[in-house]
Amino acid sequence: MSRDTLSDEKVSAEVDVLIVGAGPTGLYAAYYAGFRGLSAALVDSLPEPGGQVTAMYPEKRIFDVAGFPEIKGRDLISGLVEQADRYEPTYLLGRYATDLTVDSRGLLVGLGDGSAVRAGAMLITAGIGEFTPRPLPAGDGWLERGVVHFIPEIAAHEGRDVVVVGGGDSAFDWVLALHPVANSVTLVHRRARFRAQDGLIREVERLDVPLLTGAEVTEIRGDEHRVREIELELSGGDTKVLRAQTVVAALGFTAELGPITEWELDLDKRSIKVDTTMRTNRERIYAAGDVASYPGKVKLIATGFGEAATAVNNIAVELDPSVRLFPGHSTNTG
Ligand SMILES: Cc1cc2nc3c(=O)[nH]c(=O)nc-3n(C[C@H](O)[C@H](O)[C@H](O)COP(=O)(O)OP(=O)(O)OC[C@H]3O[C@@H](n4cnc5c(N)ncnc54)[C@H](O)[C@@H]3O)c2cc1C
Repeated sequence: MSRDTLSDEKVSAEVDVLIVGAGPTGLYAAYYAGFRGLSAALVDSLPEPGGQVTAMYPEKRIFDVAGFPEIKGRDLISGLVEQADRYEPTYLLGRYATDLTVDSRGLLVGLGDGSAVRAGAMLITAGIGEFTPRPLPAGDGWLERGVVHFIPEIAAHEGRDVVVVGGGDSAFDWVLALHPVANSVTLVHRRARFRAQDGLIREVERLDVPLLTGAEVTEIRGDEHRVREIELELSGGDTKVLRAQTVVAALGFTAELGPITEWELDLDKRSIKVDTTMRTNRERIYAAGDVASYPGKVKLIATGFGEAATAVNNIAVELDPSVRLFPGHSTNTG
């Protein structure tokens, strides 16, 4: 949407705080906004919340989140969503924040689908940028009919024949996660060597999972409801057909800060400079998590949580100078 077409007629949500990026930092910020009595909307280019965790390592165990000696990526994100749900934030998933207009009523942010959000303030928790899954060339038209980039629920693939396409860590993670529930799992990689860590490869090699290298998916066949089989071209020129009701395209993601770089924010390479309150150089616009930059910054989930709390408390004061910066203790709220 271009700036001159951004208007209140396009507004689909009106909130105190628009959070751009539903990764761990944005999700925690949504909880915190609610805790401060602020309404919040989360916009994310991905169809699922969780940012890098959901996109790249939902099945991996994380050991450095405070309070959890170890927790699977997917479980951490479920917990964050559940925590935020208490205050019912609005989710605008599968949409990009593209345009920004500042006027006397606050901020008007245009989304890639032509709608807009009106907000008193914005918290940018855009991580390393908007993620776009790398498409499976032969998968055109099969998304929603069996070709997937994410698996929000492993159990949904119970009893299915699954083909995972890719050679990196996430492809191997998906194989390990799906193997216990699927009827069969096959990994297909177009190169001769895998990029995944040796430990992961060894773990998969111990399972009864065919690993087809030098094999490219050339065609997906099925009906109007679902994929039924895929055709591969093998390195020698032969073809092979595999039965499949699910095809996981684990080919990685591209990440771009994109339109945010045009919002007249002070940038430090691919990050946004903030002060100790997490405010950017522009009024009512804050940043937290991987995308926020200041001297000594360490990009970790734990850091993002603290920054989200700092940002939201300072937003609360900027929106209403009569409220206190310190939120009080959650233990006193019941
Ligand atoms: C393989 C791997 C392992 C890791 N292991 C650990 C670990 O053990 N411990 C740890 O602390 N950290 C770990 N990290 C780092 C950790 O995942 C990040 O620090 C964390 O995800 C940052 O969270 P975030 O919410 O700030 O950003 P992100 O998780 O990057 O989320 C940002 C979200 O913003 C969205 N977005 C961006 N721009 C737009 C836009 N214009 N419109 C709409 N949506 C937009 C993106 O799609 C994305 O979903 C790991 C990272 C990787 C890749």
